[in-house]
Amino acid sequence: MQSDMSIFPRRESEVRGYIRNWPTVFDTSKGSWIRDENGRDYLDFFAGAGSLNYGHNNPIFKEALIDYISRDGITHALDMATMAKRDFLGAIEDRLLTPRNLDYKVQFPGPTGTNAVEAALKLARKVTGRESIISFTNAFHGMTLGSLSVTGNSMKRAGAGIPLVHATPMPFDNYFDGVSEDFHWFSRVLDDSGSGLNKPAAVIVETVQGEGGINVARPEWLRALAELCADRDILMIVDDVQMGCGRTGGFFSFEEAGITPDIVTLSKSIGGYGLPLALTLFKSELDVWTPGEHNGTFRGNNPAFITATAALNTYWSDDVLEKDTLRKGELVREQLQNVADTLPGLSTRGRGLAQGLRFEQADYAAKVCRAAFEAGLLVETSGPSDEVVKLLPALTTTDEELSHGLSILAESVAKVMA
Ligand code: PMP
Repeated sequence: MQSDMSIFPRRESEVRGYIRNWPTVFDTSKGSWIRDENGRDYLDFFAGAGSLNYGHNNPIFKEALIDYISRDGITHALDMATMAKRDFLGAIEDRLLTPRNLDYKVQFPGPTGTNAVEAALKLARKVTGRESIISFTNAFHGMTLGSLSVTGNSMKRAGAGIPLVHATPMPFDNYFDGVSEDFHWFSRVLDDSGSGLNKPAAVIVETVQGEGGINVARPEWLRALAELCADRDILMIVDDVQMGCGRTGGFFSFEEAGITPDIVTLSKSIGGYGLPLALTLFKSELDVWTPGEHNGTFRGNNPAFITATAALNTYWSDDVLEKDTLRKGELVREQLQNVADTLPGLSTRGRGLAQGLRFEQADYAAKVCRAAFEAGLLVETSGPSDEVVKLLPALTTTDEELSHGLSILAESVAKVMA
């Protein structure tokens, strides 16, 4: 049966996106599965673009949320003190900061990833008194003007309608396929008084570029970047909106490199249940905000605090999830590599449960996603030419579900390339 989708093109703006790739009307979801109104089940390897690391409607969080709503727990509270917020800050301290020896203050900047990035950029500028930010090729940090100015994609940038200024892109790791020495350009222009580069306030970097095509920065590259920043009194911002919350293994994606960024942004899966929530974390000594200097109406999403606390307490009191994510990541990687080995023009990339299959002929990737949808699997493309099929399954996806999805993907690749 075909769903009636006529109201969407009639009433919803042309800007709509994912709805075009997955043309059906969804209704319910559970774990790694999402069901449309006709009762057809799809295995979801996109997980809300990384917002559903613990699966759809995780039963543990759902119970906590229902209890909270049933007892008339506060839903909206600006940034007032609530029990839900106190418990959440306590969980951040106990589950995330203390075990990792991190001393971050927590800012609630408004509920989306781009809000967290905007706050990070403003704070870096305020702390240093400098205005320019270094970003990286193929970076993605959000759609508001500040975060768009540090985003690479030319189509998205053009949407700003005004010049995007005070940001300078540098080559991300392996941009020159290993041909040019790491940081040769960056450290050279920083130290050359004739280069024309203003001393930046900060660099903003993703450890694995999600939207940019699952480009993985090597730990040694990240360490060199951290060192370069520390040596020159430049703040290092890690945007962990997509790769944080366990996506690459450890809770923070930078843990593997053994670095401590000055500022960290989190959103997407921090709320646990898919409810909007974002955080900007920064070293205590950088907390130069004056009260109310950066505010916003929706900084106290208390139902999201409840599910976020449940997520931290359930999944981050030990290293079981972290180890399992690394193991599952290997499993996915091996099966993707098998696909890449049998057909020309394919390669794999990724870390943890952020994995990608890259097509030399870019338009194959979207065709594969379409074929996968028809066969009951949700996957999306990423990369500057949409040449990478990106896999972001929930971290709670079972081995059987992973194998099932990967076999659909393999069949879809074979079908498209036949
Ligand atoms: N930073 C990164 C690394 C992201 O992947 C995204 C979203 N894809 C954002 C920021 C922006 O988050 P939001 O869409 O919630 O504004």
